[in-house]
Amino acid sequence: MAGEPQADCLFCKIVAGEVPATIVRETATTVAFRDINPQAPTHVLVIPKAHYPNAASLAAAEPQVIADILGESREVAAAEQVEDTGYRVVFNTGAGAGQTVFHAHLHVLGGRGLQWPPG
Ligand code: 5GP
Repeated sequence: MAGEPQADCLFCKIVAGEVPATIVRETATTVAFRDINPQAPTHVLVIPKAHYPNAASLAAAEPQVIADILGESREVAAAEQVEDTGYRVVFNTGAGAGQTVFHAHLHVLGGRGLQWPPG
């Protein structure tokens, strides 16, 4: 069923507490934790607890949870004190765009200057 945990999904295992992660925030629908390979001084991933392979499938099935994730990204940015200096939120969608974990996740990046366009 859509949204159900997947046994072979790394981020479902983080949600379940089966794989350790440095969790910075948690709500009824989301978890935010530090990226294991940070690309900036602040690099936090905000994910839905429900399993969807990417942001598009999550938005189609549970649009409120996309809103929850964006709301949480703002809370993360405030807690990390990157609101004033600027930060970036990114959903890589598809392998061609750099997605490597197929459980929807929003990157929150900040704490250094960020170039545009991204690589
Ligand atoms: P993607 O490339 O799919 O947009 O992002 C996946 C992110 O997950 C990468 O930035 C990667 O460093 C991170 N990641 C992969 N495995 C783990 C892990 O076991 N723990 C944590 N905290 N992050 C991970």
